[in-house]
Amino acid sequence: MLVFKFGGTSVKDGKRVRHVAKLVEANRKKHLVVVCSALDGVTDELIHLSEDASKGAERVVEERLRKLRISHEKVLRDALRKEQSRRRVARLLSPTLNQLERTARGAATLRELTPRSKDLILSSGERLSAPIVAGALSEVGLKADYLTGGEAGVITDDNFGDAMPLVETSKLQIRQTLDPMVESGTIPVVAGYIGLTQAGDLTTLGRGGSDFTATLIASALMADEVWIWSDVDGLMTADPRIVKHARLLKQVSYAEAGEMAVFGAKALHPRTLEPVAELGIPVRFRNTFNPRNEGTVVSAKTNVDSRRVVKSVALIGDVAIITVSGASMVGKPGSAARIFDVVAKSGSNILMISQSVSESNIGMVVKRATAQKAVNALEIALLGEGGLKQVLLEDDVSAIAVIGGGMRGTPGIAAKVFGAVSSRGINVRMIAQGSSEQNISFCVDQKDGKQTVALIHSVFELDDKSQG
Ligand code: ASP
Ligand code: MG
Repeated sequence: MLVFKFGGTSVKDGKRVRHVAKLVEANRKKHLVVVCSALDGVTDELIHLSEDASKGAERVVEERLRKLRISHEKVLRDALRKEQSRRRVARLLSPTLNQLERTARGAATLRELTPRSKDLILSSGERLSAPIVAGALSEVGLKADYLTGGEAGVITDDNFGDAMPLVETSKLQIRQTLDPMVESGTIPVVAGYIGLTQAGDLTTLGRGGSDFTATLIASALMADEVWIWSDVDGLMTADPRIVKHARLLKQVSYAEAGEMAVFGAKALHPRTLEPVAELGIPVRFRNTFNPRNEGTVVSAKTNVDSRRVVKSVALIGDVAIITVSGASMVGKPGSAARIFDVVAKSGSNILMISQSVSESNIGMVVKRATAQKAVNALEIALLGEGGLKQVLLEDDVSAIAVIGGGMRGTPGIAAKVFGAVSSRGINVRMIAQGSSEQNISFCVDQKDGKQTVALIHSVFELDDKSQG
């Protein structure tokens, strides 16, 4: 059995939805489950809609609602040819569109949007895309049925916006619902990214969550593989816009893919690989528009090629370093915990951490957009405590992540990385290595970022096609 996940640009318009239906049809001999995420850009639209609604911007809300309705109706019209199937799918979309409108208008009137209502809005994208895809599958002669995440069995806690599936309960329910469908030759078409609380409220799993839905379903059904279809061939040795000779990676381990996800190779939901890594179910990243290419397989195999120590190098451009220093931190347990807690509560996600052995300063790398908020929060929280602390923000940096499972226990990798960097006179501003030893990250001046990526790529001969 295979679990396919489609979304975004793969279902951007009617023609592409029909193309997706053909890809599914080409695999009709296998047992299949299809997971959909929203049409291209729709979740971002829904987020803007929520923001405008909570501000009470009624006119803008109306305009956004109108556009969302029109764009989905258009994709529906173009994706399906038969009037009868159009009408059938339209009947599925209509309650969702109406509910979306009621919720957004209600919020705009009240100038208030609770996390629960926001999830009702954000989950609309998948509840609108999946029925259209199911309709397109029916048109190519497949038996397909649409289900919401909750109907498929994805049960979560009530942490709206970032809900966590109750894994065992969900797996049991998924098996009970989907197994008989699949056995009888029906393709379940599941709205990804969304679940249901035990109290019956809709939840969302966090951005990019439909990949997670796909792997969760695969783990429940013990699928042979998960295929995540998008508009790129797979995971690459580097961003091809930066390194011309960047190469597709045929195979990476779960741990490597996890590191690449964090550092932007593919925006993967952080939990995506958890359910499948446990069971060793491979995940294949494939290109909807280039289906002949086999893509990248993420599996339990590590280090197929022992020469391949470093697998990829990524640039994270929009970051900043925050350094907290102060003599009062030396030898004082809990200082780091306190600092990270303040940063987390300010809504900033920490990408890298380093502390000098002297303990007198702690450096953190965060997304640039959230850096100033974190600094303000740190100043308020720490400076009042006495003991002369200083908070410094540097936002003219780029972070580089060098990733590969084979770095573990292989001496000399860091020396090779930094030797190369220094030979070009590039200044390293901060260094961190995770204890997993599968990634070395460091910051350089922003102006040197791309050059550094290209340099590492060539020093480790990542463009060498003879390697896996
Ligand atoms: N549509 C959701 C998002 O854009 C979920 C997903 O794409 O996986 O985050
Ligand atoms: Mg996505």
